[in-house]
Amino acid sequence: MSGEIRIQMPGSAILIDYASQCERDRALRFAEARQALAERGCFLLGWAALSAHDREIATVEARNWLRAGIACGLIPGCPVHDDCEAGQ
Ligand SMILES: [Zn+2]
Repeated sequence: MSGEIRIQMPGSAILIDYASQCERDRALRFAEARQALAERGCFLLGWAALSAHDREIATVEARNWLRAGIACGLIPGCPVHDDCEAGQ
C-alpha cells in the first residue's frame, strides 16, 4: 500500500496526488469523521449525502491537514510504511 497515487476530481480533469494509498485511506477517514461531526453538531449533510465532487474536495483538504498535523507532531505518522507520508 505504498507509492504515489492520483485521483481524478469528479467532473473535471484535475488530478489529486496522494503520497500512497495509505495516505489516501487516512485522508478519507479524516474527512468522513469531520463530516460526521458537522452532521451531528451543525445539521449539515452526512458524508453519503455529499456529491462525489464535494467528497473529493473534503478529502484533499483532510490530506492537507493530515500532512500539517504530522509535520508539527500533532498527528502520528503512518506506523506501517516508510514512504507513506508526503515529504519523506
Ligand atoms: Zn502507511
